[in-house]
Amino acid sequence: MPPEEADPLSCAVIIVAAGGGTRAGGGVPKQFRPLGGIPLLSHAIGTFSRHGDVDRLVLVTRPEHREFLSELPPDIIHADGGASRTASVRAGLNALAHNPPDHVLIHDAARPLVSGRVIGSVLEGLKSSEAAIPALAVTDALARLGPVGRPEPVSRDGLHRVQTPQGFHFNRLWKAYQTLPDDADLPDDAAVAAAAGLQLVLTPGDEENFKVTFPDDFDRAHAVLHQRRLAVSGSGFDVHRLEAGSSLMLGGVRIEAGLSLVGHSDADVLLHALTDAILGCCGQGDIGQHFPPSDPQWKGKESSAFVEHAMKLAKESGVCLTHTDLTIICERPKIGPHRDAIRARVAALTGLNEASVNVKATTTEGLGFTGRGEGIAAQALVSALKDPR
Ligand code: MG
Repeated sequence: MPPEEADPLSCAVIIVAAGGGTRAGGGVPKQFRPLGGIPLLSHAIGTFSRHGDVDRLVLVTRPEHREFLSELPPDIIHADGGASRTASVRAGLNALAHNPPDHVLIHDAARPLVSGRVIGSVLEGLKSSEAAIPALAVTDALARLGPVGRPEPVSRDGLHRVQTPQGFHFNRLWKAYQTLPDDADLPDDAAVAAAAGLQLVLTPGDEENFKVTFPDDFDRAHAVLHQRRLAVSGSGFDVHRLEAGSSLMLGGVRIEAGLSLVGHSDADVLLHALTDAILGCCGQGDIGQHFPPSDPQWKGKESSAFVEHAMKLAKESGVCLTHTDLTIICERPKIGPHRDAIRARVAALTGLNEASVNVKATTTEGLGFTGRGEGIAAQALVSALKDPR
C-alpha cells in the first residue's frame, strides 16, 4: 500500500488594523491611506491572499473605520478591534476558535510590504518550533541616555529588531491568551508567547518589511513598491465603418459631424482599442472574449462600460495604469476640435491624469479605406506597472 499522505496543515492569518495611528499624517488612520492607488492595508491582504499556504484571513478593525473598507476579498473574516493591540489579537483569535487552524500568523497592517519569502520562512520555522518570529540584526551602535544626559553604550549582543507576521501553533497561542488578564497590553505576540513559555525560533526578516509610522515612511514604501512592480504595456487596434448619420462616439465624446460609426455597441473605435490595450496589460485576452458581439446585452451599449470593465480587471490583476498614447486614423471628422474633450474623458475613465493621456490624429494621405473615408481606425498603447504575483 502507498504511504498515506498527511493532510496539509491549515494556516490562518490575522491582520491587526485597529489602530487609530495618525502620526503618519493624512487625517485618516495610516492603514487606510492610499499607497500605490490602494489602501495601505490592501497590500498585505493581497500578499497573504495569494500565498498558497494561507487558507483564511481575519481582518481586525474598529467598527467606525469600516467605511474605509471597500473592495476587499469577499471571503475575508471581519472582527472588531479592542482598546489595545492585545485585545484586538484576542478578537481575531476568537473569530477562528470555532474551527481552529493548525497555524496562525499575526501581522500588523502597518507593514504593507511583507514578502512571500518572509511568510515562507515563518511557516518553515513552525515545522520545528511552536512560534516563529521574523527578526533582523541590530547593526547600529546603541546608546542609552544616562541620568545626567550622557550617552552610555549598550551592547548589541543578542538584540534583534522584531517584525511581523509572527507565526504560532494556534492552540498554544490560544492557551497563552487565555492566561492573560483582560486588560493586558503587550507589545506583540512574541511577548505573549514568551511569557507563556512557548518555544520560539527567529526567522529571517526583511528590511523592506518595515512599519509605516511617520510621513516619510510613505515615500519609502512608494519607492519600494515602485521598484518591485513590473513595467508592462498593452496595445489595441480597432476599425469601424463610417456611414452618413447624425453623430458618432469617439473616445467617449459625442461628435456631431453628419457621420455615424457602424457597430454592435456604440462603435466607439477609440475606446475599443483602449479596452484591448488595458486587457493586454492584464493578460486578459481581447474585447471580443469579454463582450461577444453575438451577445444581445452589448447591443447599443456605451463603450465606456467596456473600459470600466477592463479597469476593474486591471485592479484585480494588480495592474496600475501609468500612461496611454492614443492614435485616431481618419480623414473625417476633424479631430482637433474634440481632442481636449477626448483626453479629459479618457482620463476620467482610466483614473489617469490628463497629462498621462495623449491623443493623436493622423490621416493616411487619401490612401486605403481611411483615406476614402469609409471608416475610422484607432490604435492605443497603454503603459502600466504590475504588482509581482
Ligand atoms: Mg470595435
